[in-house]
Amino acid sequence: TVRVRIAPSPTGNLHIGTARTAVFNWLFARHHGGKFILRIEDTDLERSRPEYTENILEGLRWLGLNWDEGPFFQSQRLDIYKEAVQKLLDQGLAYRCYTTSEELETLREAQKARNEAPRYDNRHRNLTPEQRAAYEAEGRSSVIRFKIEDGREIVWNDLVRGKMSWRGSDLGGDMVIARASEEGSGQPLYNFVVVVDDIDMQITHVIRGEDHIANTAKQILLYEAMGAKIPEFSHTPLILNMEGRKLSKRDGVTSISDFQQMGFIAEGLVNYMTLLGWSPPDSTQEIFTLEEAAKEFGFERVNKAGAKFDWDKLDWLNSQYIHKTPVDKLTDLLIPYWQAAGYKFDGGRERPWLEQLVTLISQSLTRLVDAVPQSQLFFTDTVEFSEEGSTQLKQEGSTAVLEAIVTALENQPQLSEAAAQDIIKQVVKEQKVKKGLVMRSLRAALTGDVHGPDLIQSWLLLNQIGLDKSRLSKAI
Ligand code: GLU
Repeated sequence: TVRVRIAPSPTGNLHIGTARTAVFNWLFARHHGGKFILRIEDTDLERSRPEYTENILEGLRWLGLNWDEGPFFQSQRLDIYKEAVQKLLDQGLAYRCYTTSEELETLREAQKARNEAPRYDNRHRNLTPEQRAAYEAEGRSSVIRFKIEDGREIVWNDLVRGKMSWRGSDLGGDMVIARASEEGSGQPLYNFVVVVDDIDMQITHVIRGEDHIANTAKQILLYEAMGAKIPEFSHTPLILNMEGRKLSKRDGVTSISDFQQMGFIAEGLVNYMTLLGWSPPDSTQEIFTLEEAAKEFGFERVNKAGAKFDWDKLDWLNSQYIHKTPVDKLTDLLIPYWQAAGYKFDGGRERPWLEQLVTLISQSLTRLVDAVPQSQLFFTDTVEFSEEGSTQLKQEGSTAVLEAIVTALENQPQLSEAAAQDIIKQVVKEQKVKKGLVMRSLRAALTGDVHGPDLIQSWLLLNQIGLDKSRLSKAI
């Protein structure tokens, strides 16, 4: 059976690139009825933080990328790695290297002067026991290096990129698999532990970003050394900004929680991520759930080229999902944004009222956060007037119209939709004015502007929290 994994490092919040890789892993697992495994790669003790792990777990859950096994933590598996390092040492496939950082620096300078790519020259590969003892006696610390033969050819058939071919000599010399550490057995490094874990967790397909291609070449050699079956590899395209450069912090967002704060809805964002590098067989279909995408998903339809991040398309998809979210769920989703904006739910702003407000504005929301400006006038006592709004109130007849409305409201403690319509009709008749003037003046007085959501519904909402009369009187 298919077993795939996502292996984020908790050195930052859940990154959009990692999340998109998680989406592809999840879709592939679900398509094949396989398992999706979560592994937290927290071997870098200095840069890993529990709050990042929390953010990653929360982000994956929020997106609906439920995992079947894990989370496993590499920090809890150090004994397993130590044992694996020792085994390679015992087999003579790895060795202790005492080269100092100064010596490495000198080597690098010399290579630079000759215009050569930096590589370790394997100088400690065949130390005699006496040499080793001498270095130890000097008190030098050591790293563990894994032997890479220059002449080796490494070939794999990448599920996205096709045939890949590397030479051992491209890999920078014998690779460090464990750094020096106090207890001598060393701190194992990414390229090594990832292979130990993928073997141990019986991963059948390694699906990850194309920035790991060179690592794959090295890792294949490690699989061989450990006598394990080599999984399939699939390198997914990078996410690019509209200028074609790798999407970065400078583009305003990098993490899933940023997108969440910006008002994206999980279903919309995850749908968009599915399309970042993949397209369904019917490419006109753009809106689908993860389950629907999983039915169609395969690497034949994943692009080699980088995937451009298109904000307009994301916004469009997001709005589609918002518009079809049921009002009670949408209200739940909006409350945190209102709270973050400091809006208070007092003075009659209870659940039924909130849901009425959500019904009023839902179709004009692109992002959830748009509800903040769009509902501001319902949460503040005083109206802010736009230029057009105040001009409207100075129009001839406007004051008389508003006065007539205030009078009519006196016998209407609780306004109904029919009553509101009646008042407008009555004022048109009494004042002998066009309905347009009544509507525009009413809107300007209640909302401070000449555009906005449905006027009668807005009025009813303000009436329920007792704000309509005061605003009308103020505008006169
Ligand atoms: N911890 C690695 C990363 O976050 C995992 C890469 C992999 O999938 O092997 O990039």
